[in-house]
Amino acid sequence: MSYFRKHLELIAGYQPGEQPQDGQYIKLNTNENPYPPSPLVVETLMENLTKHRLSYYPSPLCDELREQASAVYGYPSDWILVGNGSDELLSIVFRAFLGKGDWVLYPYPTYTLYRVLALLQEANFGEIPFEKDYSLPKKVLTGQAQLKVVCNPNSPTGTFLSTMIIENLIKNSSCPVIVDEAYVDFAYDNALSLLKRFPNLIILRTLSKSFSLAGIRVGFLIAQPEMIQGLLKVKDSYNVNWFSQKAAMAALRDLHYMRNNVEKIKQTRKEFSQAMSKLGYEVLPSEANFVMVRKPGENLESEYLYLKKNHILVRYFTEWPDSMRISIGTDSNMQLIIQILKNMTKDNKNDL
Ligand SMILES: *Cc1c(COP(=O)(O)O)cnc(C)c1O
Repeated sequence: MSYFRKHLELIAGYQPGEQPQDGQYIKLNTNENPYPPSPLVVETLMENLTKHRLSYYPSPLCDELREQASAVYGYPSDWILVGNGSDELLSIVFRAFLGKGDWVLYPYPTYTLYRVLALLQEANFGEIPFEKDYSLPKKVLTGQAQLKVVCNPNSPTGTFLSTMIIENLIKNSSCPVIVDEAYVDFAYDNALSLLKRFPNLIILRTLSKSFSLAGIRVGFLIAQPEMIQGLLKVKDSYNVNWFSQKAAMAALRDLHYMRNNVEKIKQTRKEFSQAMSKLGYEVLPSEANFVMVRKPGENLESEYLYLKKNHILVRYFTEWPDSMRISIGTDSNMQLIIQILKNMTKDNKNDL
């Protein structure tokens, strides 16, 4: 006898990447930023921290932060909903649009949280394989559903769909479409300009990747005001804590700092991708702060384990055993990976 609702018995929760807290690893498994956040963030927290402030609830809609985000994203504040990470915003949207038996469609492979959120709603999920060249699967474009999701740039592939393709998807869909732009600051374009024309478009942004603030848990949902109004009914009143609101405001005031880090990471991505190709890996073209590397038909578990033994964590998915997803760290992090993989090849040869 279980206390839990039946559908919960049958599902596994979301499995996040390993998060060792002992500082023993170079963490290149969950796409965090290797550079620290803007110095303005810590400064602002220190300046604002008083005992008195902690006795009060924070702003329920993050009023000041919304103003700041409005200046950055170019839409008025009533087009913006702030979440405790964009994971919370995903959860709000899935709860708002999906009930038992409803359908959500998305290209696959992608962020596996979408599946878990669908299962929690007792909804059906259509995981439509990307075309061979990682373009948008036709069934996502034409299929009928209550919700569609596109992660762009996509994780774990790093591949990117052009804004024209996204526009076509939104035009062809009679349901809400989430464009999860968690990694878009590392890409050459984004879908923000489409918002004005499409009431069914929902764009998600996060401070976790490009702004180096995964620890503060702040994400933004941008959509037309009617959409925001509806979603507010699903949101907890005080979903974003006071510290995070302050920290996020400071981060958004220092865009230059973020952009500078993004440029460094894009340069490192380019050099690392070339070096991995030379080592014999197929490297998917990435518009994100990670790359997916493959050896089609082989199993890369031993590479993953060898790197781990050498204190480097990358992401290995048992579902795609011929691939590894490697976050872009500093130049020296990435050179170390190359060196270790070369050594591994040598070690193996010595064993023979
Ligand atoms: C990291 C990530 C998120 C979650 O970001 P948080 O704001 O930290 O919750 C959402 N979507 C994708 C695809 C991600 O990779």
